This record gives sequence, structure tokens and C-alpha cells, in this order.
Amino acid sequence: MDAVTTLIEYLKFPSVSTDSNYSVGMQGARNYISGQLEVLGFSVENIKTNLHPILLAERHGDPEWPHVVLYGHYDVQPADPFERWSSAPFDPEVRDGRIYARGAADNKGPTIVHMTALQRVLKKHPNLPLNITYVIEGEEEIGSPSMPKFFDDYAERLSQADYMLVSDTGSPSNKQIVITTALRGLIDVEIKVTGAKVDLHSGIHGGAVYNPLQAISEICASLHNTDGTVNIPGFYNGIAPLEDWERSQLDRYPESLESYKELLGVSSFAPCGNLTPLEAVRFGPTLEFNGMGGGYQGEGSKTVIPSEAFAKITCRLVDGQDPTTIQEMVIATIKERCPKQVELTVRRGAVAPAYLVIPPDRSNTPKKQPLALANAFRCVATAITNNFEKEPIYLREGGSIPVIADFKQRAGLDAIMVGLFTPIDNLHAPDESFDLELMNKAIATFEEVFISISNL
Ligand SMILES: [Zn+2]
Repeated sequence: MDAVTTLIEYLKFPSVSTDSNYSVGMQGARNYISGQLEVLGFSVENIKTNLHPILLAERHGDPEWPHVVLYGHYDVQPADPFERWSSAPFDPEVRDGRIYARGAADNKGPTIVHMTALQRVLKKHPNLPLNITYVIEGEEEIGSPSMPKFFDDYAERLSQADYMLVSDTGSPSNKQIVITTALRGLIDVEIKVTGAKVDLHSGIHGGAVYNPLQAISEICASLHNTDGTVNIPGFYNGIAPLEDWERSQLDRYPESLESYKELLGVSSFAPCGNLTPLEAVRFGPTLEFNGMGGGYQGEGSKTVIPSEAFAKITCRLVDGQDPTTIQEMVIATIKERCPKQVELTVRRGAVAPAYLVIPPDRSNTPKKQPLALANAFRCVATAITNNFEKEPIYLREGGSIPVIADFKQRAGLDAIMVGLFTPIDNLHAPDESFDLELMNKAIATFEEVFISISNL
């Protein structure tokens, strides 16, 4: 089967991981992809989890061969709202050089790119001297809840590998490929401030008690400096300064401040410390208020002093910031700044570490970078340049894929992330699609990659 037909078949399975009504679709996608891997000569294990099994597939020969892990996911986001799709989300349609279906870009298209490339290479070189381990999970779109247990059980086996290849990130267009070198980490904190035991009449009690909404506003307002930096002692400790080569990579990214403003619909940007706005979303850590509330929210007015108020706060973190330490720092600062007349309660949410990998031959490349990883970076860059006629851009990403940092922390594996979806692919939205021209070039790219990383 050719790549497009294979992808069409794969996309027909509605593998929505978050909705139990789609368990048949999940099973179908899983069976389909494990069938494809078996045809390629992989031994496939269906690893049971509390929800959706993980596929662990191996093609192993001489332990001396280079060993790559390929990571992807067979689950997709819900297709709602269905009425906003131009064609049915699980009935793939090819129009104007793109294939439209839920999961086309995230992550089924890229998975089929890797597999098709591998199929073509193995046809020519059945004895390809490359050990390959596939990890394809079914819970990426719901936060990979089964992966920690998977690492408990399989990290040692995975750590036999040299590095990972992943295509679950983006590039700016089908002409310019980005190799993502970093993902931000995340911490989550919710705070609640309580004053009187019930809402109070502001005429009878106003002036006597500290208003919880005032208290939470004062706390929140204290967490940033006027230059936009985060005002928490120690927040920036351990972050390495930005290297010139990384700044200059961003200069090659086809986006201007003007087009970014237009995209967001804002008239100006917030102050970002010593970073530009385009640098700030990739290189800097942040503290954001995601929700605040308390008091009367209905129509009109109500003269009340609320009994409590809350704020939901998350931080995006960069390499060098330990998430648990930062979470405790944020909480300690809030406790210290909370007026003593109100009571503070804190909910600690999830934490996820940041991830960073530096390509070889750079000013800040780790001295002890493994040769296999350095070699693979060079192979990938050459193959991208050959097939897309432009060198890749190495860029940090503002978003978080916690499982990538987990692979590093639990199994010691760095990831080379080759972005295969573009901004017009409508990930997680109606009319998701995948560019067939990019798909073909990417298959040719990975054919070259699999051959060159095998040292053939
Ligand atoms: Zn994805």
C-alpha cells in the first residue's frame, strides 16, 4: 500500500482517548498500527495500562548497532464541533493536496511518514544494521497518565537505546522544517483566601475586615515586576544565558513582530524583561493567572464583602528550573505576601520538567554529548536540507510535552524532534489536515535518515 492509502485506513479509526464511547476506535487504531509494525518485522507487545494499552515494538539485531526509539501516539483529540468540519472527521478526504481528518497531522500522518520510510529502507536493506524500538501510546491527548508506570517497568529496557526520533511538533511551513530543541516545563498552583465565615454586608461590616478579593489581588499583583519579569526570589536561578546562535536561529523564523501582533489581535506586547516578545514565548519562563474569582458574579451589583476568593496560577519553566523547587518558591512567596488578616489555602497541582537538547558543534554543546546523538543530529539536518532545500531551524518551543522530559529523566534518552505539522494544519480543531507534499518530502527525508544513522 502506498503511504496515503495507509494513512487513510489509519485515520478511519476514531481513536478518541478521552471518550469511552470510542473504545472500539481506539482498539481499531491500535490493531491497525501493530499490524503495520508486524509486517515490517517488528515483534509487538501490547502493554496493558489502566486505560489504553501502549504499543512497544522491537526490531533488534546486534546490540552493537545504533539503537533508536521512535515515539508517537495513536490517540486523537475529540472531533467536536462536528458541524464545523467540511468533510466527516473520520472519513478522510483528500482535497487540494491535503488530507483532511481528525489526527491527520497529530499524530497519525507523522507516524505513517516514519513507517513508510522504514518500509522502503527495509525493502532495499532487509539487514539494516539498526536497532529500533517503537513506543506508541494511546493517552497522549489526555496527558499520558499511564507513562510513569510504563517507565517504572520498561525504563531499563529503553535505556539500552541511544536516542529518540519524534515528530509531534510543528514547523512554520511546508518549506521550512524546524528541529525543536526545547520544551517548557509546567507547574500548577491554586490559592484560596478566606476572610469572614460568610459573605458580609458591606454597609454593616465594610471597613472592619480585610476583603479576600483585595488580598488576592494584592498577592497576584506582587508576582511580576514592571519590566514583566517574575517577582519571586530565586525564580531565575540556574537558567543559562541565551546563546547568540539560538537568537540568530530565531531570526530565520518567518514571523515578524507585526504579523504576530496581527495574529493575536493586540496593539502592543507586554514587557518581557531583556527578551523580545518572540524570544519570550520560547526562551523565557512565565507566571500566568489562568483564572480568578470570588464575590458576586451575577447581573447588576451586590454590596457584599465576599467570604473567599481564588486564583489559578501556572508557570511555564525552562531548562535549569526544577519544577518542584519552583512550585515551593511560588507558594512560599505567596504565603509571605498574604495579608495576615485572611487565611490562605493552597492546592499543589501537577509539575512537569522542562526539556532541552543542544545540537552538536555549538558554543553550548555538552562536552560529553554521546557520539550517536551528535551523529544522528547531523544525519537529520543533512537529510532535511537535501529534501526541503533549506537547512532546518533549531528552535525552542514554548509548549510542553512532559513525556519527552520523562524519557530523558527515566531512560536517559534525548530526542531529535522533527516538526512535521504546520500552523494551517488545524490541530485539535475542525478541518484538521496534513500536507501531502510535506508528507512525501518527509518520507524521503526519513529514508535518508534511517540509512545514514545505521552507518551504512
Ligand atoms: Zn500529538
